[in-house]
Amino acid sequence: MTGKAAIGELEFLRKLQRLLAEGDFVVTYKFALLNALADFALEREPESDGSLRVPLFAIAEKFIEYYWLQARPYRAQNGNGVVLFQNTGKQAAVINAIVAAQIANPTLLGARAAKLRWHTLVTKVAGTVAGMPLWKLQTVAGDRDEFLYREKEATEDTIRLLPGVPAAFRSLYGLVLDAVRGAWMRQIASIGANEPVLGNADLATFLFGSGRASLDGFRDVLRDHQAGKCLYCQKKLQGAGGVDRFIAWSRYPVDLGHNLVLAHTSCNGQKRDFLAYPRHLERWHRTHVERADELAQRFDSETLPHDGERSRAIVWWAYEQGEAAGAHAWIDADRFVRLDRSWRDVLGARALPLVAEPSRSKY
Ligand SMILES: [Zn+2]
Repeated sequence: MTGKAAIGELEFLRKLQRLLAEGDFVVTYKFALLNALADFALEREPESDGSLRVPLFAIAEKFIEYYWLQARPYRAQNGNGVVLFQNTGKQAAVINAIVAAQIANPTLLGARAAKLRWHTLVTKVAGTVAGMPLWKLQTVAGDRDEFLYREKEATEDTIRLLPGVPAAFRSLYGLVLDAVRGAWMRQIASIGANEPVLGNADLATFLFGSGRASLDGFRDVLRDHQAGKCLYCQKKLQGAGGVDRFIAWSRYPVDLGHNLVLAHTSCNGQKRDFLAYPRHLERWHRTHVERADELAQRFDSETLPHDGERSRAIVWWAYEQGEAAGAHAWIDADRFVRLDRSWRDVLGARALPLVAEPSRSKY
């Protein structure tokens, strides 16, 4: 531990709120940066002192992930539609770089697979991150308050989230994400050049996805993998069955294969956005973690996005937060139970590596 106490959640929230309310944002990068830091806090294990080193390259990859959706033409019909401005002046450099990348590879999965071109793109974006938002984020109204990370602790290619910051992001994730994305959207809506094309209602869906995306592509893979049984009630699926997000979209809005399970539409509908109680978690663990590599190969053969390690980290985080908040976990029908610590016996330690190659990330 350093001599200074780790930041508490309330202080963190106050500072973040001030940053969002008073920060000088002409380009939207600072929102993407905050979103990336929050995601890393969920996905990676902090040091024993509560700090967390984050590589610039990894931040750049997150930027590309977020802006990939946003760099598409808005309201494109018959090939029309325009790319929304992310900057009050000329278009943001990251958007231009991604638009160019999308010409070569329209999907993020395809772009990642083109290794050399991907590396060039990530390097370019990392340069923008280091040059622009990284050292401006924490300056509010001319007043520099380094509560997330410090310039003097940065190396050429990493920053260090200060003790307490990863924990605060973890416990306040939903709130932080709403605040950051709300501010991001308002920023885009306030850019004059966007006015002619912006309606209102569907902007959030366009920018961040809706959770209504079709998951049908996963169905056959999951049916094979789960031997045709509903993950929750273990009974045979008669009809098509529904693809269910084990951790609901409202808790973590990214669709990756290992978080998806096949279930009866009725079981799915009863579970809603609740956590599944530990017996269900045990089943998910048996099929999706213990057999993660097998499942990954099945997803690969259908070119479906997955990242087993990330999904496991998200499940761990969701149960940890659920336990702390006294959440109710779904059993069956309309039966629920308060989540106790027994889920830890199922999932084990947070940092346990899931797959042989921990750095491999498929998108
Ligand atoms: Zn069922």
